[in-house]
Amino acid sequence: MKTEIGSSSDVITGRCACGAVTYSANGPFRPFVACHCDSCRRQSSHFVAATRVAGDCLTINGEENLKDWRATDDATRRFCGMCGSLMFWAPDSKPTVSIFAGSVDKPTGIPLGWHIMASEKGDYYEIDDGTPVYPNGSGIA
Ligand SMILES: [Zn+2]
Ligand SMILES: [Zn+2]
Repeated sequence: MKTEIGSSSDVITGRCACGAVTYSANGPFRPFVACHCDSCRRQSSHFVAATRVAGDCLTINGEENLKDWRATDDATRRFCGMCGSLMFWAPDSKPTVSIFAGSVDKPTGIPLGWHIMASEKGDYYEIDDGTPVYPNGSGIA
């Protein structure tokens, strides 16, 4: 299973739905990981997917428009305070930032890697895209 895509010379850009928050980030990028946990489903209305970069590889414009929410006591979720778009997830334990897939401009160049927290998924859909499915975490941060 490939856990890193691209290199430090690769760049992705993205924005929230209203454009108040934009960003660019340098690789390497983790494949998009889909999270089916209860918090992600409630906040997003379905499930989320996110890539991940080193924290110092992310440049945010309009950061003052971000609002923070801590669903758990070990990470901060950041979303646009104007339009509500989910943007970033930052764990306290290490200097990385996860970037929510829907905010990334196409072409992303990043594949979907695997699914986590499938034990908390909604009861109205199946996970059947052929990528690995983990009931809880993958063990790969
Ligand atoms: Zn916005
Ligand atoms: Zn989640």
